[in-house]
Amino acid sequence: MRCPFCSAQDTRVIDTRLADEGDQVKRRRECAACKERFTTFEVVELTLPRIIKRNGAREAFNEAKLRAGMQRALEKRPVNVDAVEAAINRIKKVLVGKGEREIHANELGELVMKELSALDHVAFVRFASVYRSFQDVSEFTDMIEQLRNT
Ligand SMILES: [Zn+2]
Repeated sequence: MRCPFCSAQDTRVIDTRLADEGDQVKRRRECAACKERFTTFEVVELTLPRIIKRNGAREAFNEAKLRAGMQRALEKRPVNVDAVEAAINRIKKVLVGKGEREIHANELGELVMKELSALDHVAFVRFASVYRSFQDVSEFTDMIEQLRNT
């Protein structure tokens, strides 16, 4: 950590404590060169990767858009809101866990399909039929077959 006073690189931590109800780590540091002291805060960063669309464009992960897509698939289906929110949280957790800065839109699509298949088969097929452009009929029948087996 560079010293903000003299820009020396050699600084040492003299005190560490939790701040903001444990969500932050507060560190007192001292510069080895000028002996000035300063404080740094560390926060766990939950950065969701950017989404690479089919045309190569990048866009920020948009939770509202994800939720809207899932709700559209789940329209009039007997699935409660909490289950959908839990699914969205699992998807986000997987994305964060990947530690990638960018992921392809189809990876996100696969995660959504996995969650929908566990929530509701009708919603899954709705989503999949829109999401995946079924160029290959066998791909579609394979999926139906998979559904029967679950
Ligand atoms: Zn310094």
